[in-house]
Amino acid sequence: MTQVIDGKQISARIKDELKEKVAWLKEQGTEVTLAVIQVGKDPASSVYVNNKKKACEYIGIRSLSYEIPEETSEKELLELIDELNNRQDVNGILVQLPLPGHIDEEKVLDRISPLKDVDGFHPQNVGALCIGKSGFVSCTPAGIIQLLKRSGIEIAGKECVVIGRSNIVGKPMALLLLRENGTVTIAHSRTKDLKEITRRADILVAAVGRPKMITADYVKEGAVVIDVGIHRNENNKLCGDVDYDSVAPKCSAITPVPGGVGPMTIAMLMHNCVESVSLQKM
Ligand code: NDP
Repeated sequence: MTQVIDGKQISARIKDELKEKVAWLKEQGTEVTLAVIQVGKDPASSVYVNNKKKACEYIGIRSLSYEIPEETSEKELLELIDELNNRQDVNGILVQLPLPGHIDEEKVLDRISPLKDVDGFHPQNVGALCIGKSGFVSCTPAGIIQLLKRSGIEIAGKECVVIGRSNIVGKPMALLLLRENGTVTIAHSRTKDLKEITRRADILVAAVGRPKMITADYVKEGAVVIDVGIHRNENNKLCGDVDYDSVAPKCSAITPVPGGVGPMTIAMLMHNCVESVSLQKM
């Protein structure tokens, strides 16, 4: 029978573990603090920011909210980041994306101190991941590793195929699977004969950004399938990059959408906030 990997349950467990750790840190006199910056009032961003604040509240992380106007200049935003970088009482800084068009996203993300970069997007943290040093790891791929491990799925020695090479999902995912001793292939839009490659996978991660593109003929019998995609279908219901109904019967384990990878992203953001305390002490 196919194992449905329950991201809701696993993320809840991680949040409970973090709650205990945060309470312990408080007893030692350390309060974990996350600063969240939102520029403008994009409704989808507001939903994400609110979910992050709620998770902080549940775990006991203090969240500082900076909801600044759409017209804020790049210079003003960089000054705010400098101020937060210098504050001893702020452990993590998160800038909600996307930013308005007049602000250079890369410049802003690069300005966040690598020691407070809880999203794991700073080039120093990406480099650290690449060469196996400690640092923050991008939350969605880090969450996928937790889903696999906590579901008893062995990665070492397995043929892993990641479809997608974005900086926030595909590339760090491939590096993390490699770190866990998987044999990793990255596929992308220029890959020839995608199905031939994906059908080799014992673990297939779809981060392609195309609704239900991965049908049963992309998947080997008994594979583990991780669906990173989030889309709304024609009936306004959430769906992933994987055509769940056709793929699920063929695989040994699969993540659903919703309730698979999605909930793990915030849990790992919270994990990174807690982790920031020890990274900053190193
Ligand atoms: P991007 O659009 O940045 O990257 C998509 C990748 O897929 C690219 O590398 C692209 O290749 C590749 N690709 C596109 N079309 C094809 C194709 N036909 N065949 C093979 N490869 C293809 O997306 P993200 O990585 O940011 O996100 C991927 C998905 O995950 C999205 O649906 C997004 O909404 C979702 N997501 C979910 C999160 C969660 O918390 N669950 C968090 C982040 C993202 P190329 O590089 O050649 O263009």
